[in-house]
Amino acid sequence: MENRQHQLHHQSAQQPPPATKSSRFRRICVFCGSSPGKNPSYQLAAIHLANQLVERKIDLVYGGGSIGLMGLVSQAVFNGGRHVLGVIPKTLMPREITGETVGEVRPVSGMHQRKAEMARQADAFIALPGGYGTLEELLEVITWAQLGIHEKPVGLLNVDGYYNSLLSFIDKAVDEGFITPSARHIIVSAPTAHELMSKLEEYVPKHNEAGTKLSWEMEQQLGYNTTKLDIAR
Ligand code: AMP
Repeated sequence: MENRQHQLHHQSAQQPPPATKSSRFRRICVFCGSSPGKNPSYQLAAIHLANQLVERKIDLVYGGGSIGLMGLVSQAVFNGGRHVLGVIPKTLMPREITGETVGEVRPVSGMHQRKAEMARQADAFIALPGGYGTLEELLEVITWAQLGIHEKPVGLLNVDGYYNSLLSFIDKAVDEGFITPSARHIIVSAPTAHELMSKLEEYVPKHNEAGTKLSWEMEQQLGYNTTKLDIAR
C-alpha cells in the first residue's frame, strides 16, 4: 500500500502542471455593485469570476473601491496573482475605499474620466449584479459599441436571473423597434462565469456591418470624453 502511494506520488510529481487556459484578453473591466447584495450567490459569483480571470491569466480593471462586490472581485484577482487596476474619482475615495485597497489605484478627476479610463484599459467588459452605477456603466459601453466607438465584447453575468427583467426589457425594445436585432447581440449573457468567459472568448461583433463607424474625433465632439483617451485602442 505504502509502495503504491509512493508510486502515485512519484507519477503525479512527474506529470506536467495542469494546463492554464490562454485567453484573447489581457485585461477585463468588471462593473459591479458597491454593495454585496442580499443573496450570497452574488458574492460567490464575484469570486468565481475572479477565479476565471486568474485561471486565464487576465488582469483586472475596476472602479477601485474596496466595498461590496467590487472589493470581493479585486481582492480575489489580486490574491490569484494578477494585476489589479482600480480607477476611482478622488472625491469618491473616502466613500468607496474603506481600509486597504489592492493593486494599483489610479485617482481620476470625475465619473466620466473613470469610465473612459476603465474602457481604454480593457479588452472586454463584464457586469456582475449591481445597482444604478453598474447599470449606467454597462449601458454606456453598450452604446459605445452600438456607435462603433469600440468592438470590445460586453458580458452580463446573469447570476440567479438577476438581469432577466433587463434582458426582457431589451427584447421588448427590439420588438418595438427601438433597438436593432444586430445591436441586441452586443450583450453576451450567461448564468455562470465559466460559461460567460467561454462565450466572450468566441464573440464576433456583428452590429457594425451596416453602420458607419464613428471616428474617435467624432466621438470626442459628441462629448463622450473630455480627456484624450483612446477607448477603441
Ligand atoms: P452601484 O452599482 O450603484 O453600487 O455602483 C457601482 C459603482 O459604479 C460604484 O463604484 C459607483 O461609484 C459607480 N458609479 C456610479 N455612477 C457612476 C457614473 N455615472 N460613472 C461611473 N461610475 C459610476
